[in-house]
Amino acid sequence: MSAATTLSIWHPFTQAHIDPRPLQVCRASGTYLYTTDGGRIIDAISSWWVNLHGHCHPRIANAIAAQAQTLDHVLLAGFSHPPVERLTEKLRQIVPDVLTNIFYSDDGSTAVEVALKLAVQYWANLGRPEKHEIVALEHAYHGDTAGAMSVSADSGFTQPFPHLRFPVHRVNSAYCSRCPVGKQRNECAIECLEALKNTLEKNSRNIAAVIVEPLLQGAGGMIVHPVEFLQGIRRLCDEYSVLLIADEVLTGFGRCGKMFACDIAGIAPDLMCLSKGITGGFLPLGATLCTESIRAEFVGPHQVFFHGHSYTANPLACAAAVANLEIFDSDEVWQRIHAITARHEQRLLPFRSNSNVHEVRQIGTIAAIELKAPDAGYFSAVKPRLYEFFLKRGVLLRPLGHVIYVLPPYCIGAEDLNYVYDVIEEGIELAAPR
Ligand code: PLP
Repeated sequence: MSAATTLSIWHPFTQAHIDPRPLQVCRASGTYLYTTDGGRIIDAISSWWVNLHGHCHPRIANAIAAQAQTLDHVLLAGFSHPPVERLTEKLRQIVPDVLTNIFYSDDGSTAVEVALKLAVQYWANLGRPEKHEIVALEHAYHGDTAGAMSVSADSGFTQPFPHLRFPVHRVNSAYCSRCPVGKQRNECAIECLEALKNTLEKNSRNIAAVIVEPLLQGAGGMIVHPVEFLQGIRRLCDEYSVLLIADEVLTGFGRCGKMFACDIAGIAPDLMCLSKGITGGFLPLGATLCTESIRAEFVGPHQVFFHGHSYTANPLACAAAVANLEIFDSDEVWQRIHAITARHEQRLLPFRSNSNVHEVRQIGTIAAIELKAPDAGYFSAVKPRLYEFFLKRGVLLRPLGHVIYVLPPYCIGAEDLNYVYDVIEEGIELAAPR
């Protein structure tokens, strides 16, 4: 067989023949990415929300290097190893008490697939196979594999794949500035929850689980929900005997100001999905946690959960995750998180009265500025204009259509974060419709 004449890298989300050549990044440190042509870029979105303590953090890098010389990989079926045992113990100390079992996988999408399959098989193992349907929210995003894409809301990402997606019950999200039931937040009683209540009332005998991104819908536009919305979902799931899956793939590990978004609302889910920040942004790793009562239905020979990925709980990824979590114990991470939160609050103030801005949103270290745009949505024409402008100014920000958001690594300094906001101020003026 002769060798291919070319082999081109297919970059995610790029339009062939339109997108410029990808920037070549050869090195990274702390908040910065360095390009081969000598440029330096502030990574203000933590490289798709994965980085926590800064790029190439030496403690995580050293943990991976040491692990690579000790045990590279071994299957997890019938085997275990020190890094996965240590990581499980570290996670036990921070996850809600009721979550007593953990199933490892590869990334955020697979953590979601595992949660969906566990929920459905749980009811089947209990002798209730008719309880196999899923409820998900408008504006949801849970990943790009087929199951995760099914529970994600309709979007450009899902549009070509109607036949791959299983049907779900779709209910309101608490998108307060575009309230689905026409209320104002200051005088509402979370009436948007009625849709979920009605769906459960009619269909709970067939519903296995409700899946949510707790308090913050990320890719759907950084939509922040009132805590009462999440608390209400938990209450309704209990009332109608339906499992609650919290997809904390984005919100986990301090992003929203507490270790998990569920902690802010004071609730515990039945299943929780983790990934992204779990390794501090070094290596892919997914995890799905569940309660004892779910695990208890997977004991008999005909109740086995037949799901497993080749690299499940890879020792290098687990070693990275342990080092990542140890940094929370040893360093002043929460002070950094609080400092970012405070700076966001201060710098967002002027945007609240900016005539080009529809709404400003914030939860912990995540800030979003939704612009007024005639073509509001992921494909808004302002996105490529802003993206290029920000990069020219040395800042990586990838607006979600007409929504600019800042989601920095916790190590970002005041000067750099101020600079990011200066650049956004300038960019918004340039992008404003004339
Ligand atoms: N769930 C949420 C809430 C996410 O934001 C994402 C990715 O952005 C995913 C799941 C999918 O994670 P991954 O890209 O690692 O598959």
